[in-house]
Amino acid sequence: QNLKKYFPIKAGLLSRTVGQVKAVDDISITIQPGETFGLVGESGSGKSTVGRTAIRLTDKTAGEVRFKGTDIYSLPPEQLRQLRPKMQLIFQDPYSSLNPRVRIGEAIGEAVLDHGLAPASDIRDIVKEVLASCGLSSYHIDRFPHEFSGGQRQRIGIARALVLNPELIIADEPVSALDVSIQAQIINLFSHLQESKGLTYLFISHDLSVVEHLCSRIGVMYLGSMVETASRDELFRHPLHPYTKALLSAVPIPIPKLKRERIVLKGDIPSPANPPSGCKFHTRCPFAEQRCVEEVPVFRNMGGEHWVACHLV
Ligand code: SF4
Ligand code: MG
Repeated sequence: QNLKKYFPIKAGLLSRTVGQVKAVDDISITIQPGETFGLVGESGSGKSTVGRTAIRLTDKTAGEVRFKGTDIYSLPPEQLRQLRPKMQLIFQDPYSSLNPRVRIGEAIGEAVLDHGLAPASDIRDIVKEVLASCGLSSYHIDRFPHEFSGGQRQRIGIARALVLNPELIIADEPVSALDVSIQAQIINLFSHLQESKGLTYLFISHDLSVVEHLCSRIGVMYLGSMVETASRDELFRHPLHPYTKALLSAVPIPIPKLKRERIVLKGDIPSPANPPSGCKFHTRCPFAEQRCVEEVPVFRNMGGEHWVACHLV
């Protein structure tokens, strides 16, 4: 609720603070149990920072984060530690977080021991079971990270999160580094695991076609702000924000007569250290007016679950 995360910009020998990057600038999201909420936007829009602050991996600047009603930022360290297994983060590149000299069975089992979730004598069986549920055979258990392909490594990343019996999984660009054919397999795995284990996902991606099949609701971020949220179907059929329309126009659709006109945005995403005035999108928006330069658009409800921040909608 009203989540903000600002990073100080330091300069000079004495690291004076000379400004701040508003990476997340007043964002509110509710994710229901068993739901997949897709968070979409270009790199630099603040999606990853939402993911990390949502499970208190970095501190927030302002706002509130509740997990099943509990304000996780007011929890004392020991209680937060007990809650940790329930909220797991999966990265784009699980390889970077795997120690190359540790066999993957140990890498997966370690966390179970650390959290005291099972006795050491059970770990091997637990690891075998979680590998199987992620589509890896028990013969992989004693192998090293470099012996796996990209897709298999992401399966290991998922297994390592899953072994702690989480309820919420934050997946940050989990398929972005993979070939398209492998992407589909991993997305199917996410979907299958959700059904069998009742998981809740916050699924972060720069690619709308990746979230399309998995997410029930989608939020679109631009420079630290949410510009539109809607159910998946509503967002794909009736996008309202010019930025969402531009992102969608780049998604290939299988029905030729529904061909969308490609909206190409001018320029790159501006620096979040120095965002444009008014509507932060005005420097790239094909419909921008004088009002957009001066006034910040309010995030308004358009009926049902559809919300948008644009003066012209
Ligand atoms: Fe474009 Fe103006 Fe709407 Fe912003 S408020 S998206 S600049 S039309
Ligand atoms: Mg990111």
